Amino acid sequence: MKYTQAFIPTVKETPSDADTISQKLMLRAGLIRKLSSGIYEWLPLGLIVLKKVEQIIREEMNKIGGQELLLPAVLPKELWVETGRWEIYGDELYRIKDRAGREFCLGPTHEEVITDIVRKEVRSYKQLPLMLYQFQTKFRDEIRPRFGVMRAKEFYMKDAYSFHATEEDAANYYKIVFDAYSRICVKCGFKYCPVEATTGAIGGSSSHEFMVVADTGEEEIISCDCGYGANIEKAECSRTEGKRVLGEIKDLEEIYTPNLKTVDEVSKFVNEKPEKFIKTLIYLADEKPVMVIVRGDMEINEEKLKYVLKCNQIALANAETVEKVLGAPVGFAGPVNLNDKNIDIYADFSIENIVNGISGANKKDYHLKNINIDRDYKPLAIADLRKTRRGDLCPKCQENHLKFSRGIEIGHTFRLGIKYSKTMNATFLDDKGNKNHFIMGCYGIGVSRIVAAMIEQSHDENGIIWNETVAPYRVIIIPISYEGKIKEVSDLIYNQLSEKTDVILDDRNERAGVKFKDADLLGIPIRITVSDKTIAENGVEVKYRAEKTAKLTKIGNILDILK
Ligand code: ATP
Ligand code: MG
Repeated sequence: MKYTQAFIPTVKETPSDADTISQKLMLRAGLIRKLSSGIYEWLPLGLIVLKKVEQIIREEMNKIGGQELLLPAVLPKELWVETGRWEIYGDELYRIKDRAGREFCLGPTHEEVITDIVRKEVRSYKQLPLMLYQFQTKFRDEIRPRFGVMRAKEFYMKDAYSFHATEEDAANYYKIVFDAYSRICVKCGFKYCPVEATTGAIGGSSSHEFMVVADTGEEEIISCDCGYGANIEKAECSRTEGKRVLGEIKDLEEIYTPNLKTVDEVSKFVNEKPEKFIKTLIYLADEKPVMVIVRGDMEINEEKLKYVLKCNQIALANAETVEKVLGAPVGFAGPVNLNDKNIDIYADFSIENIVNGISGANKKDYHLKNINIDRDYKPLAIADLRKTRRGDLCPKCQENHLKFSRGIEIGHTFRLGIKYSKTMNATFLDDKGNKNHFIMGCYGIGVSRIVAAMIEQSHDENGIIWNETVAPYRVIIIPISYEGKIKEVSDLIYNQLSEKTDVILDDRNERAGVKFKDADLLGIPIRITVSDKTIAENGVEVKYRAEKTAKLTKIGNILDILK
């Protein structure tokens, strides 16, 4: 490609509303343009990169037996009603009507559609396992679109779905996909970390997120040298059993705490550490009030709570509801004296070790001290409900302290089990002629998010530094001025290299300084400069984008730079 023929609208100034480095550089390098909030145009250079990433993924999916197909983006409501997700997906789902008033959504993910195909077309265990995947634009009405194409309302995804006759086969295949995802990360040049994750709206029994390690990442991840890794929502907390110091169990006592509501306020007032407090929260779990308690210096992890309560929606109750349920205002709730109040208590593990604890008295302006579990209250369940904190021990090895870092989630793998095949009644006949539900897995990768994540991880003050596997062009040739002998040599090496790789020749009538700046901004891995000086030595200057210094290469050996 000749630069003068290419559509590469670079920009000098930093766009003011760009909120991340990758978005700034993608806009400045002319890879994308913003059409509307969370909606982007992919310009030619950006699309070359996107397609290269797509090809890396496609090759790995084919290697593990995947077969590519293409599903519609407009999906009939009926399928989504079958699985209940027409309701559950909430406001993130784009809903539309056709001229006859029939309802559809724009696909945010395709479990329903693929399960529908397979239930219609696959009859026997002999047709299994089956792995189908596609590349497609997905639509999600994100509440806060941000970071450019990383959290967009319309984005490009690879989604894959596998169908198995047995749990064992599904489990084995899950590992195979996991390895393929790891290879994709390596080929993209990522520093990455797979972590255990919660299953969210997609559902299923277990899942992993593939995180690209980056300080600017949206997700907080924890890891341990022993190999344990999890996202912060999923990160387990160990049950510190046996650590309960059994001192003297004292009698319950009421304390007058006028207008003192938070753990902090009361702890200062009574001069006791927050560790002594039983923090009490009232939640609505699918509209039903529940009491949740955790040690005063710790926080509830709502994802874990949702999992333990087996509910779809969880939210803190408002002041009015709390008062109605407990007969006391917010700030004075506690697990004791619930008598006729018909509310279940869910306790975090951290509660077990509190001796002579303090909490609200369910009475305005009063707290209780010397509260003890079993004697004064009985939780319905004790479970891991809290957020992981700095300093926590690794729940797996129980030896090291957890490391905290940040990451960008680029891929997500799920073991779905029969979640979708059951609700959609998708069955096959096994070798004994019995009807069984398909065991499923689903595996997504954000292709467009990967492009931004690459830049987030690999750039400097001058621009992007592409990995050679995805760079829009691998080589840029910069003639100091495109005329005479310099033009001759530039054309010669351009023709030679073009046969082997993607090359762009900067034939613009611009100062060399401008061309160098653009080459750095675009992040082309190999830059070749042709000048009278280099020609006098029968060579050209070669500089790799990721390195500081340049070196002279003989014109006759130019193909060596690709090795
Ligand atoms: P997140 O937690 O970031 O919202 P998710 O759990 O909703 O992601 P999945 O439904 O598992 O994501 O989608 C698979 C992949 O699609 C993600 O790993 C991510 O790379 C990408 N992705 C998800 N939402 C977006 C978005 N709004 N914009 C761009 N890429 C996205
Ligand atoms: Mg999401």
